[in-house]
Amino acid sequence: MLNFVNLVSRACKGGMGTFAQQWIPANTRILEFTGNKVIRALVNQALMKGSTDCFLQIDENTFLGASGKIDDYVNHSCEPNCGLEFANDRVYLRSIQHINRGEELTFDYATSQKSFPFRFNCRCGSLDCRGEIGDYSEIPGTKKAYYLSKGVIAPFLVQRVEPVRIRVKEKRVAH
Ligand SMILES: [Zn+2]
Repeated sequence: MLNFVNLVSRACKGGMGTFAQQWIPANTRILEFTGNKVIRALVNQALMKGSTDCFLQIDENTFLGASGKIDDYVNHSCEPNCGLEFANDRVYLRSIQHINRGEELTFDYATSQKSFPFRFNCRCGSLDCRGEIGDYSEIPGTKKAYYLSKGVIAPFLVQRVEPVRIRVKEKRVAH
């Protein structure tokens, strides 16, 4: 199943957008991104040809291409009401706050982007708007912490915490 709640995509200020057709509680799985996997070299090629395809990065060198369905029309916001949920090799859109009927669904595209081959200007209108969207590394620290607390950062971007090595003093053998 592609979407788990009632949604509609329609034209809006940013071209097309995806909108809630019902009230959605926080922390709800909303839809699955269903585009085919595409490797980085092919994404670069597509963008050089001026393709308007959307690409969702899922690890260092793998992206999901356009699916031709409603998941293609979820726009970016610097103050989003949704985020990405990575689970069992699948990628979902999940609400991070409650969403009213008629509200547009958005997530922060940079939460899965590293050496992303494309930048774009943002006019989301939020007070936190970064103006230009690129990689995860460009998200301000407080915002990263917020996304981390919501569990909506692509796992390949989240540094693994190395276990602390405890040095055990060698026992000196008394003679
Ligand atoms: Zn913005």
